[in-house]
Amino acid sequence: MAKGPVPLIAGNWKMNGLRKGAEAEIRKLARLALKPKKLHCELVICPPATLLLAMQGWLRTARADRRIALGGQDCHAAPSGAHTGDISAQMLKDAGASHVILGHSERRQDHGETDATVAAKVAAAHAAKLTAIVCVGETLAEREDGQAEAVVARQIAASLPEGSRAGNTVIAYEPVWAIGTGRTPAPVDVARMHDRIRAILSERFRDGELFRILYGGSVKPGNAPDLLRIANVDGALVGGASLVAADFWGIARVRA
Ligand code: PEP
Repeated sequence: MAKGPVPLIAGNWKMNGLRKGAEAEIRKLARLALKPKKLHCELVICPPATLLLAMQGWLRTARADRRIALGGQDCHAAPSGAHTGDISAQMLKDAGASHVILGHSERRQDHGETDATVAAKVAAAHAAKLTAIVCVGETLAEREDGQAEAVVARQIAASLPEGSRAGNTVIAYEPVWAIGTGRTPAPVDVARMHDRIRAILSERFRDGELFRILYGGSVKPGNAPDLLRIANVDGALVGGASLVAADFWGIARVRA
């Protein structure tokens, strides 16, 4: 891949992880990530919010907290208040997060999140000085209907608030049909979509060339080299494979 933004490899643990197993896995990852003299990519793990504080401590004691950052998986749009069960961006920050995944297709589907909801959450993340990893992507029906690019363009236009910039916002292109299925789009389709996303960002933002555009959806150590070499693929958002340190590192090392 040509020289561009520093790649970002982010792990989304989803609703997985209890302290016991998580500690062993994160310590393994810390050992792996500390091996190279210098890392040429950024690493972020987004565990369930219940693990953030503990994970911050494990990474610190392993002296890997400067190599592996932490993120949340969602936040509320308000900074505080009567929102039972929700977590604010400030709370994530307080628990050690520097990033937050927003607009994941599982949130859009399971919780009815619209682009407007996502935009409000992204603004809240920015206000709390978190980097928002904003997920976009088409369903299989939308792709088969030839609507993939239009859907993604609409999601990007409506999910990014004013104030978004390369330093506080990352886009994750995640075709919904590729998430957790073992299926990935053909490299030519990934390339086309990432080029389109780059063009959309460059049209709207002065620093559009500098935004990281991640690919997500069934990234594994075996297919990571092919996916991460595509132009305008500036890293990966990894679900299932991020739960196993060796697999996550097997992906990250491609850009490390
Ligand atoms: C995800 O949920 O963001 C994801 C990419 O999952 P998986 O890697 O398991 O497909």
